[in-house]
Amino acid sequence: MQIKDVAVLGSGIMGHGIAEVAAIAGYKVNLYDLNDDILSKAIVRIKDSLSRLEKSGKIKEGQGTEVIGNIRCYTDIKSAVSNVDLVIEAVPEVLQLKMDIFRQLDQLCSPHTILTTNTSGLSITLIGSKTARRDKIIGTHFFNPVVIMRLVEIICGMETSPETLKTIEEFCRSIGKDTVVCKKDRHGFITTRLIAAQRVEAFRILEEGIATIEDIDKAVRLAFNHPMGPFELADFNGVDTGLRVLEDLQAVYGDRYRPPQFLKHMVECNYLGRKAGKGFYQY
Ligand code: NAD
Repeated sequence: MQIKDVAVLGSGIMGHGIAEVAAIAGYKVNLYDLNDDILSKAIVRIKDSLSRLEKSGKIKEGQGTEVIGNIRCYTDIKSAVSNVDLVIEAVPEVLQLKMDIFRQLDQLCSPHTILTTNTSGLSITLIGSKTARRDKIIGTHFFNPVVIMRLVEIICGMETSPETLKTIEEFCRSIGKDTVVCKKDRHGFITTRLIAAQRVEAFRILEEGIATIEDIDKAVRLAFNHPMGPFELADFNGVDTGLRVLEDLQAVYGDRYRPPQFLKHMVECNYLGRKAGKGFYQY
């Protein structure tokens, strides 16, 4: 099957980036979110990113306008998804929300449409369990910032068909991404389990009073050559998203992923990281 038209649900940190890379590759993209204000902010972010790509020569001068022309914004889910070949869901990391959306999508989309989720760690099979197209449900885990990060981690659900996997691998290649495949649907896949393990250990080092946030970040940057330390990355990805991911991993794998109490308090008090202007650092 050849993908031509794509819908991206949720235009936040991840959704706007996924829409942007698909539109750069020439796909027509329907971008859906809850209201026009949120969508306008997403379009501003995409335009800013495109102008940076033009300046650095990664896309041709003037190509940004053409790319923006490939994106249409919707606040009505039915209009956004009824004529597309592929839906990529990037709404918050809340299982019930994702399950409800997939149940709706199953009713609204054409029978051939593949439904993917950008979940950071939830079960793909469970997210798609209320649909009658479990062979066409698959995980596509993009990384932040989508326009720069090369990997898409593909996760097969328990009933994902080989055709769906092949189509998604080809789609990812067509938007300039490299892929790895998780053959089994297990919470946290490869990348989220690895990064979460580092993050909870960093939280423990902080709680034990061994070093400051700044020095733990510096240690990881300079010792391991990671571009960001664990606290910088937590702010970059959203402290709320990080908390939900750890809670899900803890529920499955036990206390090795237990989030510290201070993380819950930060989320309650809106210290959500860069998107809120404050988190472990001030922005
Ligand atoms: P975000 O909070 O930045 O964006 C979520 C968007 O979804 C918002 O624009 C919000 O308005 C919208 N939304 C909320 N409810 C909705 C609904 N019912 N229908 C449509 N849109 C709705 O979150 P994010 O960081 O972009 O995360 C999205 C998904 O991507 C999550 O599953 C997250 O775990 C995953 N993810 C995040 C990162 C990261 O670095 N932030 C990386 C990889 C994967």
